[in-house]
Amino acid sequence: MHIDELQPRSVWKHFFDICAIPHPSHREEALGDALMRWAAERGIEARRDESGNVAMGRPAVFGMEDHPGVILQAHLDMVPQKSAESGHDFDRDPIRPRLDPKNPAWLVAEGTTLGADDGIGVAMALSLLEDRELRSGGLECLFTVNEEDGMSGARAIEPGFVSGSLLLNLDGEDEAELTIGCAGAVRTIAELSIPATGAPDGLEWYEASVEGLLGGHSGVDIDKGRANATLLLVGILARTRVALHLASVAGGTAANAIPREARAVVGVESARAAEFRAAFQSEASAVRIALGDKDPGLVAAIAPAAAGGAGPSSCLSPKDVDSMLTMLGALPNGLVAMEPDMPGLIRTSLNLGKVEGAVAPDSGRFRLDTLVMVRSSSDDEKEALAATVEKRLAGVAEYGWTVGQRRPAVSPAWSPDPASPLLGKAVAVYRELFGKDPRVTSTHGGLETGLFRPRFPAWDMLSVGPTIRYPHSPDERVEIASVERSYRFVRELISRL
Ligand SMILES: [Zn+2]
Repeated sequence: MHIDELQPRSVWKHFFDICAIPHPSHREEALGDALMRWAAERGIEARRDESGNVAMGRPAVFGMEDHPGVILQAHLDMVPQKSAESGHDFDRDPIRPRLDPKNPAWLVAEGTTLGADDGIGVAMALSLLEDRELRSGGLECLFTVNEEDGMSGARAIEPGFVSGSLLLNLDGEDEAELTIGCAGAVRTIAELSIPATGAPDGLEWYEASVEGLLGGHSGVDIDKGRANATLLLVGILARTRVALHLASVAGGTAANAIPREARAVVGVESARAAEFRAAFQSEASAVRIALGDKDPGLVAAIAPAAAGGAGPSSCLSPKDVDSMLTMLGALPNGLVAMEPDMPGLIRTSLNLGKVEGAVAPDSGRFRLDTLVMVRSSSDDEKEALAATVEKRLAGVAEYGWTVGQRRPAVSPAWSPDPASPLLGKAVAVYRELFGKDPRVTSTHGGLETGLFRPRFPAWDMLSVGPTIRYPHSPDERVEIASVERSYRFVRELISRL
């Protein structure tokens, strides 16, 4: 098999055309231009909004004018990732797709992400739009910009940009799944501060660290029982029951990643140093045993900080370290609830993604920043949990801390509706074509459909797509046969709507 022979021909041709035009997030303009030209050459009515989102469509075929309009939605951008050896320039070089030499049932790219997420969705939509034999009501394509780095395109869709009422999001990643919901999210940041104190003489300073944890995505991996490095370290330090001075603390890297590492620089009175070291080690072993196989790589250690040098000149006093550790230790974290009606699916969770604390030299205050991400398929639960977290964080005000809080990003949930008529038809068509039931699912990650929900409450939506593995990495691959099946399924479904 050669890549020129892949089926359905029209889908793959569009996909290879897309691969030839660089289109990483924030740089989708050339691809948008190409789509506008493609539509103009065929007399297809097309438009583009200020963000760069593109819509195009065709009217209902004769006799199907009273059928609901269908919107085929996909995102134009791709995540630009390349292998260490690749010299690829994502601003200039085309993506080079090829059959995986080790397993030719899959298409990969040479040294880069393939962009099947979501180039295959765009290609399927274009191919359906130009299919003269497909009898349907009004059919529109909606192509959004910047899904992968903030979903700003989807956020900017204005009412009237498209007119259909049934939306098929073609950004799914498993041909056997029909996705009918996604989590909404709140990122909440707290900026806490309190005057630092001069570090007394005679302290021994240690760097305490936790590392080697599995981490993972704070949405889809949050039910796997993996530890949060920051909270482990906080817990171990608190349970040593030794008065600690704190010069700095840091854990995690991002809201949407479970922290794998955390460290803190702490000072203890020389007379209690041996007791502290022993207590730290014994608490660390207890944690290791409790985690067991769920997160087997934990390494918790203490080592003398800044060997030979003087300790820090100012730090957080033991009393304020106490209030900080107590507050962080009391934060809810991880899995909160599973979907009651959909076995195995996560409903509500949160992740203390990043913590950073140190003395600010200019103000002489110890400043602690925290970043928490709350997710839920229920906007009410999301809101209630975010409020709980903010209240707990703000509780340190009682101990003299100054508290500032803000929410840099909020996205709405797309709550699953198992009674959706679109879903009912999709399940029936899937069964008929493939002789088995699809998995009906909801994702604890984010989808653009979540952003459409409050603006277009009347839309009936479904997310589907061929099987893609390792998206957002140079190993990204799409299963070739699944593209043909997914396309056949979507085409058949459209003709029945
Ligand atoms: Zn995608």
